Amino acid sequence: MTDPAESTTGVDLSANNIDINTAAAPVYRQMLDIIAAVEPRVAEATRQELVDQRASLKLIASENYASLPVLMTMGTWLSDKYAEGTIGHRFYAGCRNIDTVEAVAAEHATALFGAEHAYVQPHSGIDANLVAYWAILQHRVESPTLERLGAATVNDLTESDWEDLRREFNRQRVMGMSLDAGGHLTHGFRHNISGKMFEQHAYGTDPTTGLIDYDALREAAREFKPLIIVAGYSAYPRRVNFARMRDIADEVGATLMVDMAHFAGLVAGKVFTGEENPVPYAHVVSSTTHKSLRGPRGGFVLSTKDYAPAVDKGCPMVLGGPLGHVMAAKALAFAEARTAGFQAYAQSVADNAKALAEGLLRRGAQLVTGGTDNHLVLIDVSNFGLTGRQAESALLDSGIVTNRNSVPRDPNGAWYTSGVRIGTPALTTRGFGAAEFDTVAELIVDVLKSTTPTTTSAGAASKAKYTIADGVPEKTMSRSAEILDAHPLYPGLTLD
Ligand code: PLP
Repeated sequence: MTDPAESTTGVDLSANNIDINTAAAPVYRQMLDIIAAVEPRVAEATRQELVDQRASLKLIASENYASLPVLMTMGTWLSDKYAEGTIGHRFYAGCRNIDTVEAVAAEHATALFGAEHAYVQPHSGIDANLVAYWAILQHRVESPTLERLGAATVNDLTESDWEDLRREFNRQRVMGMSLDAGGHLTHGFRHNISGKMFEQHAYGTDPTTGLIDYDALREAAREFKPLIIVAGYSAYPRRVNFARMRDIADEVGATLMVDMAHFAGLVAGKVFTGEENPVPYAHVVSSTTHKSLRGPRGGFVLSTKDYAPAVDKGCPMVLGGPLGHVMAAKALAFAEARTAGFQAYAQSVADNAKALAEGLLRRGAQLVTGGTDNHLVLIDVSNFGLTGRQAESALLDSGIVTNRNSVPRDPNGAWYTSGVRIGTPALTTRGFGAAEFDTVAELIVDVLKSTTPTTTSAGAASKAKYTIADGVPEKTMSRSAEILDAHPLYPGLTLD
């Protein structure tokens, strides 16, 4: 296996005398010409996206840069095949090559994460969560209900038994982390199907430390008696103890589902080990492939053997036909993540987040929980007199791409927010280290200190409008350009 540590794209094929980026350049140039012949605006947007990504400090915690082999694998005729069902059990003829691709991806995923079972079809993280919810419902609710009613399948149910089963589904409960504490909307939030399917009780974080309070969670779980406890987050800057989560789940008879979409790369790269690795503790693990894991845009589900038959029913239960070309790209990404180079990358992601946090704190920024021990930091920008929305926009004006995010108990709500979330996976792929992230911290604080909310006609501070001191965006962009140029994205991939 090759070692991706050498290359900012994650793959080093130099043993075969191939510099992947340079080799890919004429291929991509021709590809863009061909696309342009059909629809020039799409070709131009595709070309421009690379220019934009190269020129900005990409700090969105959920984004990354997949390797060119991963990207290339998505552009094939594997896309043209319908393959509903699972490996060897399809609802369409002629699926042998999709079977191979899916089996290879699942083999790499189980080996990478040490899981009993992997299902690599979900098209995204939200889809992976739907598959996970469905699998738990089938295993914990449908199967026992059928058994109680003496039916082999739902086809054998009478109309009143069917009503009985649907009532069983409807009264199930989920406990996930609240949105403002850093949970994801698919963990039972009202504006997501998960909040409409299940009765929900969210758990938050301790108001003083900002950390998950496992004792409070245990108390709440004892009262609420959920079917499912969901662990995992989008904006919590700390590690989770999954052994404690499992212990609580076992005590109340709940299934532990972990959504590791954000930190799958840190699990794959063995930064999160022991009780911080969800795989040995969760019954079902859902994930994306495109965030810290650095694969194609997509999702997957890992589970114990018990849940595997229900997980495999994901398509067509809640998923449309599998995307053969994306499963192929997932196979490559999982293979890349099994290398020592990926482990070095994952460690750097965490080390860089620490360097970024320290640089921000030293310059007067306030961080939720006071720091980080994963891949992201959450700045509470209220001490700069800004909303998250103003901070996000001012940073974007200065070539720094982040996203606004609620902080716990956010007085500005989910639209304006009081926070900005910043992650290290993408720029670490470009080769940034602690020194570069310290400069990034300096640039961020400079922009935030130079931004002032506009006063409304009623004399109040606007939550959306702002001004930035003259020259600050230009100065920031020219400082960023220096470090970005020193760490090129896909070096050698020239499109002009
Ligand atoms: N789960 C978590 C924890 C996430 O942070 C996200 C996306 O940000 C998702 C699921 C959804 O992933 P996708 O956008 O691929 O559906």
